[in-house]
Amino acid sequence: MLDLEYTAPAPKVIAGAKHDWELVIGLEVHAQVATQAKLFSGASTLFGAEPNSNVAFVDAGMPGMLPVINEGCVAQAVRTGLGLKAQINLFSAFDRKNYFYPDLPQGYQISQLYHPIVGEGEVLVELGDGTARRVRIERIHLEQDAGKSIHDMDPNMSFVDLNRTGVALMEIVSRPDIRGPEEAAAYVAKLRQIMRYLGTCDGNMQNGNLRADVNVSICRPGDYEKYQETQNFSHLGTRCEIKNMNSMRFIQMAIEVEARRQIALVEDGKEVVQETRLYDADKNETRSMRSKEEAHDYRYFPDPDLLPLEIEQAWVDDIAASLPELPDAKKGRFISEFGLSDYDASVLTADVANAAYFEEVAAGNDGKLAANWVINELFGRLKKDGDKGIADSPISAARLGQIVSLIKAETISGKIAKDVFDIAYTQDRDPEEVVETEGMKQVTDTSAIEAAVDEIIAANPAQVEKAKQNPKLAGWFVGQVMKATGGKANPAAVNTLVAAKLGL
Ligand code: ADP
Ligand code: MG
Repeated sequence: MLDLEYTAPAPKVIAGAKHDWELVIGLEVHAQVATQAKLFSGASTLFGAEPNSNVAFVDAGMPGMLPVINEGCVAQAVRTGLGLKAQINLFSAFDRKNYFYPDLPQGYQISQLYHPIVGEGEVLVELGDGTARRVRIERIHLEQDAGKSIHDMDPNMSFVDLNRTGVALMEIVSRPDIRGPEEAAAYVAKLRQIMRYLGTCDGNMQNGNLRADVNVSICRPGDYEKYQETQNFSHLGTRCEIKNMNSMRFIQMAIEVEARRQIALVEDGKEVVQETRLYDADKNETRSMRSKEEAHDYRYFPDPDLLPLEIEQAWVDDIAASLPELPDAKKGRFISEFGLSDYDASVLTADVANAAYFEEVAAGNDGKLAANWVINELFGRLKKDGDKGIADSPISAARLGQIVSLIKAETISGKIAKDVFDIAYTQDRDPEEVVETEGMKQVTDTSAIEAAVDEIIAANPAQVEKAKQNPKLAGWFVGQVMKATGGKANPAAVNTLVAAKLGL
């Protein structure tokens, strides 16, 4: 299997008035655990339910209610950790992070500060230019989500929906190894891809099931290398954290504009203040939200309602044994097994359902031809057809596989295949049957093609004379023969025969 290489790309450089600057970015990604029930209650996690209909007493912070850990959520966090090649901690514990907010009735969030369930891991982030960066994961911890305050339903009142309160989140914390806006987006995309393969988070950013706090700082060229050598943060600039981003595009825009703000400040002799900021997409600016809290502001302490979480290595091993083939491995295999280009393999493995579809089309077929048909014809068609996903494809993988086999066997030409595809797609028909019933088989029988060539030559003596002077005009005869045979003549055979008959 191919090992996808880590080839450090150059960091993004932003020119300031006085100096060049580099970006340093670290992300805290909140991924909602794909699970039926909440982290500490049996209430449903269903999105879009009637407000306050999925709330257990413990979620509502009723006095005397006790949290009970949902084993399924723990398994999902372990699974995610294994997918990120991370250390799984057999001992972890829950802490209370105390703060007041109307959508947090407990008055604290249960999280894991001191002993997270997952330790160090890594992700390979591939960039558009063929380079790839290794981003280190610092930790993943489990925590509760808060509820939702609704301010736009009434001019005088705010409402609170507690359906999301207590839903399990995995907070995936990266090291500050991301060096530009595109890399940050690619990193989030890669995490999402891996978690979708694993089935641990649906990655739906619109619904807020995946969101990121983006930490940005600037440094002078060379400083980051000093940080890497020593792991001493003093070589890096002061960071600002941009909260709750749930769009790849906004993540990139926010980083860019925040970096420029910091550069302007520093070059003006001022200091970057460590704080939490919000990105305003309409104005394309970040604004201060609050000064940065430190851990001690939250009065963290171990939650006395919950025992430490102790899991067994055998259980972790079982989960490890059940992991699917992950994106990097699948991409490497598609390249080596089917001879695909790096680009095609990336496109086909971006989504696990697409990859499975492709493999079925390619089974026993020409892999490159199959990739070409899936990417160009099918994906192109699905996109035009209301941006359909592969699950809604009107043509099954088995049927597309038939078309690819028919081309490979030269039963139909690539051009006719497009017509067959169109019929199979729009009329829900079997390609082999279509070719048979509609008489679309390619004519490879030379005598039939020869007759057509003779006929065209006999009917166009003037053109024949011209073509003898200028061999380029032979193409006209080829076109006429193709027309006469309804596009079914084998083009190579037509070319040879036309040339021979014209004495070229
Ligand atoms: P906190 O919990 O206070 O937010 P952490 O130490 O957990 O602080 O770091 C949060 C995130 O900030 C991590 O993803 C980390 O990589 C990132 N980070 C830390 N220092 C910097 C820096 N100088 N520039 C950019 N990101 C940073
Ligand atoms: Mg943090």
